[in-house]
Amino acid sequence: MAMSTKGGVSLYRFYDAEDTLLYVGITEAGAMRWNQHRKSKHWWPEVVSSTVEHFTTRAEALEAERQAIIAEQPLHNVVHNRTRQPDRSEELVWTCVKCGRPIPDGDGYIEVDVNAAIEAIEARCRREAELRSRRPDGLLIMSGGDLLGWPDDESWHAIHRACDTDPVSAPYWFDVDRARTLLQVLDWTLHLSEKSWLDGTNWSAFVYRAVTGLRGAA
Ligand SMILES: [Zn+2]
Repeated sequence: MAMSTKGGVSLYRFYDAEDTLLYVGITEAGAMRWNQHRKSKHWWPEVVSSTVEHFTTRAEALEAERQAIIAEQPLHNVVHNRTRQPDRSEELVWTCVKCGRPIPDGDGYIEVDVNAAIEAIEARCRREAELRSRRPDGLLIMSGGDLLGWPDDESWHAIHRACDTDPVSAPYWFDVDRARTLLQVLDWTLHLSEKSWLDGTNWSAFVYRAVTGLRGAA
């Protein structure tokens, strides 16, 4: 799915329910870039509104972004300074999506529904084609509303074997014992990056939450 980089550069602002500015960023390839944010930014579930400004050149957009970050102090543009650095020897705790309790070795697995992930990618392609068809030049230009209405990724989850009473249609899974260290998770990430359906899932956000010990919304 090739994204056009023509048509200028957009500056986005994302706000939460209290109208707090969460993040400012620019993109030349709207949908793809912000879809990455949805996957990798733990604050994405807090976003309830956004604004977008278009610029002709990247230099103009970068300058506007710089000024906005200084003047408006978005909460998460400095997130890297505040994120807890995990201890490399620390074991990851996987929490069951059903009962909310930690999953000991041998008692559960991490899984995703591959069919649903493929459907998520297809839904995005349909939505992209729809947005492009609205414009005579066929460019992908998204409003803040388009962005918030973008189809969701399929969620990975960890679950106890005993809690899994409603199996998914096409599960891809591995035991929690095989994802206890950062090196193991890196290994899974490299392995999964070869799967065509990974882009239809929230793997980055899922791993981010486990690694930083954050307990955000799924
Ligand atoms: Zn459970």
